[in-house]
Amino acid sequence: LYVAAPLGAGARVELDAAQSNYLGNVMRLKEGDQLLLFDGMSGEWLAAIAEAGKKRMTLLVDEPTRPQEAVPDLWLAFAPVKKGRVDWLVEKAVELGVARLLPVVSQRTIVDKLNLDRMRAHIIEAAEQCGRTALADIDEAMKLDSFLKVRDPARTLYFADETGGEAASKAFKPGPALVLVGPEGGFTPGEAAAIRSAPNALPVSLGPRILRAETAALAAVAAWMAAVGD
Ligand code: SAM
Repeated sequence: LYVAAPLGAGARVELDAAQSNYLGNVMRLKEGDQLLLFDGMSGEWLAAIAEAGKKRMTLLVDEPTRPQEAVPDLWLAFAPVKKGRVDWLVEKAVELGVARLLPVVSQRTIVDKLNLDRMRAHIIEAAEQCGRTALADIDEAMKLDSFLKVRDPARTLYFADETGGEAASKAFKPGPALVLVGPEGGFTPGEAAAIRSAPNALPVSLGPRILRAETAALAAVAAWMAAVGD
């Protein structure tokens, strides 16, 4: 369970009504039962339910069970695609170990704003489900030209380019990386040229077929993790 409270041996954690209800009524946990907690920074801890009230639950943190994960240094810049699909994309990126999500708006992006609170809730749920102890960060949506201006060129930009590029399996090299995937309608030729001419930017191919944006994001992240993920 994710708690937004610093964890340490002997710490007492007050759960909010939603989490208390989930543990008490859905999971049917009661006083004395144990569970695993993480706060996104200090690894995973064993805790026990000290008080189980109707609306509030208090946990007593016991001992560390797993150290904080080493997060592979991969960021994913993606076009906010349609609601259900972007939720799926975010969830898969968290499961695959992505450190940071950067929504990028381009000319053909259909959805140009994201409900970050909803995205953060998906990130927490996905981390709880897959056992991550670090939460992926997610930025405010940014326009492509600003994104290209502010990015750090020391972080290799792998541009998922369906019009051609080196095979992803060969292109990925160890080191800080950022995968950029376009929207449903793709980047315009001008945008693609601007991306390709950015410093330390490499077009990578994910095969001969045209993948949906969320499929391409998942495929690129999985390929990077397999090739150079640590
Ligand atoms: N130009 C595409 C078309 O003709 O339908 C539209 C873009 S595609 C649906 C969405 C995004 O997924 C692309 O902008 C690209 O970033 C990525 N993508 C799709 N297939 C790819 C492939 N085979 N190799 C690399 N990237 C791909």
